[in-house]
Amino acid sequence: MALIVQKFGGSSVANAERVMNVARIVTDTYKQGNDVVVVVSAQGDTTDDLIEKANEINPHASKREMDMLLASGEQISISLLAMAIEKLGYPSCSLLGWQAGFSTNSVYGSARIKKVSAERIKMEIAKKNIVVVAGFQGLNKYDDITTLGRGGSDTSAVAIAAAMHADRCQIYTDVEGVYTADPRKVKGARKLSEITYDEMLELATLGAQVLNNRSVEMAKKYNVKLEVLSSLVSAPGTIVKEVASMEKMLVRGVTKDTDVARISIIGVPNVPGIAYKIFGKLAAKNVNVDIILQSVGRGDTKDIAFTTTKANVDATINTLRELDLLSGLEIVCDENVAKVSVVGAGMESHPGIAAKMFEALFEADINIQMISTSEIKISVLIDIEDGDKAVEAVHNAFIPVLN
Ligand code: ADP
Ligand code: ASP
Ligand code: MG
Repeated sequence: MALIVQKFGGSSVANAERVMNVARIVTDTYKQGNDVVVVVSAQGDTTDDLIEKANEINPHASKREMDMLLASGEQISISLLAMAIEKLGYPSCSLLGWQAGFSTNSVYGSARIKKVSAERIKMEIAKKNIVVVAGFQGLNKYDDITTLGRGGSDTSAVAIAAAMHADRCQIYTDVEGVYTADPRKVKGARKLSEITYDEMLELATLGAQVLNNRSVEMAKKYNVKLEVLSSLVSAPGTIVKEVASMEKMLVRGVTKDTDVARISIIGVPNVPGIAYKIFGKLAAKNVNVDIILQSVGRGDTKDIAFTTTKANVDATINTLRELDLLSGLEIVCDENVAKVSVVGAGMESHPGIAAKMFEALFEADINIQMISTSEIKISVLIDIEDGDKAVEAVHNAFIPVLN
């Protein structure tokens, strides 16, 4: 007998038929003698619909109230799934995040889990219940509801698996596993049977939505055995673990992230300390920056450009405007950009990966605006319009389409 955590995303519980389908998967696991904790997200597009509802009333609503609203989506799913399990003749109990023992910090909208006190879950398991927990939510020290950020239910599932030393954490979704690129966008994308935590963390951080990056970070930290698989098709999925013993592939995947904006400051003084003053001030305001590019000085001036997320644009520009040394300078923001990346642990020891990526982009007639590299990834910033074409071109250069 094992303890298994199973998580089902929004599309897996989108309607009554899908909820019954999930109830069957869960009860099949339970019938085999396992203890089962299920984590669910809000149905279908519920979270997006709730955001729209809020915007109709107050587009600048406080983050506390947004969390209060958004957490309600998961409450619907847990109760419906528990009812579906009851209908199949099995005992079940649904729990909201706070009932399941989720304590978080107070960063509304992207709260971090501090602790999962799993006593209540354990008590329900002892009563032989299939426990259904609301993903994406917790409670802060003021007893206020918090949410973990979009896609946060993956992290809820991993956190329970870690806290309870579960034997497995299965993330059920609407594709059959982790692919070399988004299988909905790239025809030749291949399913990976295994992937390392490090590679998965890069893919998730760089735009592969299939797993939330915080969930991968946590799975690595607590050595949670993760599996990504389909709730709709019975097929082997992808195992995420420390060492992946799979085919030798230089590049494990290609991703696209459109939540990017490029900020350029034109004509900053060509003297020491400028970068320190700009990025020090941004860091003090908690603005995360990603790719940074500084031009070679032309006489007395140089240009500095960097990327951040779209949500950070206003805070970034306001912060830069507060700096006396930039007063009167032109600050340009471009939100029509996308970041396309290749990821693979093998590229570290193989020269020529960057050149091959740039060649593929050149052949597709795509202009590169910025480049950044690390041991296991290369990212380029391009026009958003070229995003899908770029992913396809780069993917096909590294992972040839199989016949
Ligand atoms: P859920 O609602 O189950 O949490 P998500 O929509 O968050 O599901 O994530 C699944 C989606 O991630 C897939 O439908 C797929 O389009 C997208 N995706 C992006 N990149 C990848 C990838 N490399 N492998 C698999 N799926 C990917
Ligand atoms: N319902 C939340 C969202 O849409 C959490 C999740 O799906 O993981 O982001
Ligand atoms: Mg998701």
